[in-house]
Amino acid sequence: MSSAATYEPGAIFSVEEGENTSVPRVFIAPHRYIQGDGILDHLGRYLKIVPTKQAAILISEGGRRRLGERLLGSLNDAHIDSVVINFNGECSLEEIERITDILRTQSIPVDCVVAVGGGKCVDAGKCVAYRLGTPVVICPSLASNDAPCSALSVIYTREGVSEGVEFFPTSPAIVAVDTRIVAEAPVRYLVAGMGDAMATWYEANTCFLNPKARTTVGARPTLAAGAIGELCATTLFEYGVSGAEAVERSEVNEALERVVEANTLLSGLGFESGGLAAAHAVAQALTVVPDMHRNYLHGEMVAIGLLTQLVLEKQTDEASKVARFFAKVGLPVQFGQLSLAPKNKSQLVEVMEEAVATPIMANEPLTVTTESLVAAALQVNELGTDVTRSEGCVAFDALHGH
Ligand SMILES: [Zn+2]
Repeated sequence: MSSAATYEPGAIFSVEEGENTSVPRVFIAPHRYIQGDGILDHLGRYLKIVPTKQAAILISEGGRRRLGERLLGSLNDAHIDSVVINFNGECSLEEIERITDILRTQSIPVDCVVAVGGGKCVDAGKCVAYRLGTPVVICPSLASNDAPCSALSVIYTREGVSEGVEFFPTSPAIVAVDTRIVAEAPVRYLVAGMGDAMATWYEANTCFLNPKARTTVGARPTLAAGAIGELCATTLFEYGVSGAEAVERSEVNEALERVVEANTLLSGLGFESGGLAAAHAVAQALTVVPDMHRNYLHGEMVAIGLLTQLVLEKQTDEASKVARFFAKVGLPVQFGQLSLAPKNKSQLVEVMEEAVATPIMANEPLTVTTESLVAAALQVNELGTDVTRSEGCVAFDALHGH
């Protein structure tokens, strides 16, 4: 996809048919994961682990206003010089090249990239660090997705349509999540992160049960990733609602800490070494709908993708259990909630054609067709109607300003 993206894990771990070796199990994780209330104030100290003397801070304009002073103060205290680069919002090849070019022409070369922000900023930070040959440090300002811990980035077009993935030979040196910042962000982000995280276990389990399935790096899932994915789901079922309530009060408590860990660490480790399936295939395909990416978050798309996967796999009880949970926390349970009204059948067909063509869809143990996916989506809508009748849609409407 780009001249710098020459690392292909699939070519390293996969096994040719007839080769006398089994497909290996591979487990991938960041070198350090740090999470806690107010920890951003200690970032300078943590960067000694890397170690770094001259760091590039990649951050959006808004993030800089909110966090810039704290970040730079902490780095100053640790005698680390820094250059701050504005992230313009899209993890596109153009944006990655722009940032890389700026950093390549610095009089003193940076020896570490620190990406502070949401999923797209942290993914762009990984791409830039790879091109510069430096470690990357991730400071998520939201717990809305599974991007921070992984050694891959999803690349989007300038218009926000997902167009591929870049893989990296090393994982982030540090992932540092300040739960105070998460608690003060709008609750919709934490809730979206729960949609992304809830899919982890179901997708990993599908890959585990299907001997033909491969993880994101072309390997077989590990037991560790499965166990982590399962813990992720049980944590959300137990603490999801109280975690969201904590953010509504801008409060950091044990429930929030657990949900943040589930959304960031457990979801990240679980998906990368457990494998993805229909839930993420549908989520990626949804980005072809104009304005989808502007109006909805990745985790919200994964949520509806997960319900589609469970219906497709005929896991009816799990589908209704998950849908009830989604309705309670404010995730979508019908395609209409993501402005894909059932009457707009041609758009639904277009999305599902795209989903069938997504490589991770091949991890499903059954033959998946556009027709079977459209049928599953219509069944999700029926399930969603039932669940909305029993659970209401107050939580979703509150997050989406209805
Ligand atoms: Zn995801």
